[in-house]
Amino acid sequence: MSDKKFDVVVIGGGPAGYPAAIRAAQLGLTAACIDDYKNEEGVRAFGGTCLNIGCIPSKALLESSELYHRAHTEFEAHGIRGGAGVGIDVAAMQTRKRGIVKQLTSGVDVMFKAAGVTGFKGRGKLLAGNRVEVTTDAGVETLAANHVVLATGSTPIELPIAKFDGKRIVDSTGALAFTSVPKRLGVIGAGVIGLELGSVWRRLGSEVVVLEALETFLPAADQQVAKEAMRQFKRQGLDIRMGAKVTGASVQSDVVKVRFESGGTAQELEVDALVVAVGRRPVTAGLFAPDVKVPLDKRGFIEVDAHCRTGVPNVWAVGDVVRGPMLAHKGMEEGVMAAELIAGHVSEVNYRTIPSVIYTAPEIAWVGQTEEEVKATGRPYKVGTFGFGANGRAKAMQQAVGFVKLIADQEHDDVLGVHIIGPMAGELIGEAVLAMEFSASAEDIQRTVHAHPTLSESLHEASLAADKRSIHGINR
Ligand code: FAD
Ligand code: NAD
Repeated sequence: MSDKKFDVVVIGGGPAGYPAAIRAAQLGLTAACIDDYKNEEGVRAFGGTCLNIGCIPSKALLESSELYHRAHTEFEAHGIRGGAGVGIDVAAMQTRKRGIVKQLTSGVDVMFKAAGVTGFKGRGKLLAGNRVEVTTDAGVETLAANHVVLATGSTPIELPIAKFDGKRIVDSTGALAFTSVPKRLGVIGAGVIGLELGSVWRRLGSEVVVLEALETFLPAADQQVAKEAMRQFKRQGLDIRMGAKVTGASVQSDVVKVRFESGGTAQELEVDALVVAVGRRPVTAGLFAPDVKVPLDKRGFIEVDAHCRTGVPNVWAVGDVVRGPMLAHKGMEEGVMAAELIAGHVSEVNYRTIPSVIYTAPEIAWVGQTEEEVKATGRPYKVGTFGFGANGRAKAMQQAVGFVKLIADQEHDDVLGVHIIGPMAGELIGEAVLAMEFSASAEDIQRTVHAHPTLSESLHEASLAADKRSIHGINR
């Protein structure tokens, strides 16, 4: 039997892979996408980490736990009675989460059908000559491809000193699936996952201790924002211990004993469950036939150029399996770029304007350079900040914490970075991303009319403050 032929075969159906296949089909190419993910019920689903066990389920639980928390802490201020008595049904919360995941992952099948992408639910392996072996429940077949896009994503890093047992020592997937609220929850790693999932369970009543090896909190964030975040998280009762190096963890009957070093002394922590969230590593195991030599870097990522080309002709790689931040939207843009380049179009990703968002409360979001990074370049700059404490909408929302900080070039006025901690920061950052994509100056934002009363006025005021002309804030 001859091989089925496609212009583009994508291995991996996460947020980097499935948009690559859809965009290729939109541009008139024949496209296939192969994905091997199987959920806990044994059901195969497209959507990758993001839709199945990442962005979407975590945000579903963040929303539920935030509502519960606000009922307890904010309803009274609104004059709504009964908040303190509101209870949580973890099973119902998890059912809602699974429902959202199911809707969105089955939506990928619908999008494939509409675009004319052939989906294969199974395992893909790159063979020599740009052929791809596909193993599904129906058997093994080989596809012939003009181009192959590798989008196999990433998986949680396991620490040899705290091996996952799937019950008490878990990765992010396990922490998204707890069926009851652990009384005491330990988290290794104060990164994005540690903070988001630590927040979910703390809001629902867990005593959460986060152990972080580094001394600097959120080193990639602007340190003024990181400082404010630490202050807010501590106030909420998240016990974050910096400079705490975990040396071991073991399950002893119903508890986990975690050993760590802090300030030169050996310490121990007893918890009911432990989440290990110390980063993710690229997935390439079993992806290549022995005679296929796609270069990997020292850390195991597939090496690519700025356009996501690997060293092998017509083989591309996108998303978490290549360099750069492990973010769904970064992978998505790379997938689209690869498809457009394959179709002969001009395309690129602007890596300078990829936003980062941490979906805690308050949310944290940024784009561009931090003040520390700008300072290190020696470039003269100005800073404008505006606190949500003076924003009418934030007050009305009972969420007037945090601030917007805008950094612009002192002389040329171009916006170099925007850093937000506060309500809906992840939504607000969109305006700053657009501004930077259009090479806006602080003055461009100053001259843009912002609706009143909205949270977005805080970005407007921060841009004004950069020139000491904020109306509602303090001009330093
Ligand atoms: P993945 O989503 O990992 O998809 C790769 C797919 O390829 C998987 O389905 C995998 O099973 C499949 N695969 C691997 N090898 C093969 C093979 N040989 N054959 C067939 N299929 C294969 N990012 C954000 O931007 N915002 C967030 O809010 C956010 N929240 C997150 C929360 C959590 C708990 C986690 C774990 C991650 C979160 N991320 C978030 C990160 C985001 O999920 C990833 O950056 C994104 O999913 C990467 O997309 P990808 O397509 O490169 O890889
Ligand atoms: P991370 O890199 O964000 O944080 C891991 C943290 O663990 C680091 O601070 C690191 O210093 C610490 N650490 C490592 N080894 C340790 C040890 N032995 N003891 C104590 N601390 C240790 O990784 P993550 O939180 O696992 O997230 C993985 C990826 O998923 C990230 O790259 C992130 O971009 C992505 N993600 C994004 C979002 C979002 O965009 N909102 C949400 C979740 C995950």
